[in-house]
Amino acid sequence: MNLAFFGAGGKVGRALVPVLERAGHTVRGIEIGEEPDVAGLEAAVDFTTPEAAPENVRAALGQGVSCVVGTTGWDPQPFDADARERGLRLFVAPNFSLGAVLMMRFAQEAAQFFPRAEIVELHNEAKLDAPSGTARLTADLIGGEPAIHSVRLPGLVAHQEVIFGGEGQLLTIRHDTTARESFADGVLLALAKLVELPPGLTVGLDRLF
Ligand code: NAP
Repeated sequence: MNLAFFGAGGKVGRALVPVLERAGHTVRGIEIGEEPDVAGLEAAVDFTTPEAAPENVRAALGQGVSCVVGTTGWDPQPFDADARERGLRLFVAPNFSLGAVLMMRFAQEAAQFFPRAEIVELHNEAKLDAPSGTARLTADLIGGEPAIHSVRLPGLVAHQEVIFGGEGQLLTIRHDTTARESFADGVLLALAKLVELPPGLTVGLDRLF
């Protein structure tokens, strides 16, 4: 596909663009301050900031281009109607790592048996939003408004533990992202399935399985 990549120079962008190109996509990186000219491209990918993502999505949809967004800490819901009316797709996932999606699925299953849980999410110090989108989605999936603890330190990439406590036992479900390339499989899957999605907003990688 011919793609735009908002945030190509960022930490995720630098890891993902070469993987997308090796997979056969042609990628036009769009940096901050550049005109978001994406007309005629088949999709726009966004890994930027919570402030930039809504503007980039608005610009892409306005030029008739569907979007795959990994940026967290913003609300894509207001763009649902716009995308639907234009017959375009807006796919947003708080976590594009397949292992993290499985971690959430297993946590949802465990929550049926262990009603008490807390979530610890650990990310690189540069991550702007807290709690992470993945932690908030996990909390929604397991229900019961579990406490979320956010750790921001150098050396971390993206990690999450869901700790279930019962009488005399603990169950910990943990996922570790050790390199940002782990997000590539999910982005490639989203691009491959984009045209099959209904027009409008779709949230979460598990919707593509
Ligand atoms: P980052 O290193 O700060 O990269 C963000 C990049 O976006 C920077 O290169 C920045 O440029 C650029 N940018 C900012 N505004 C822009 C605009 N208007 N147009 C184009 N580019 C713009 O952050 P990151 O670690 O790559 O993470 C990016 C986002 O992805 C964050 O929201 C993070 O939480 C999220 N994320 C999601 C997943 C997932 O699986 N869904 C995984 C990892 C990260 P400057 O440096 O010049 O400001």
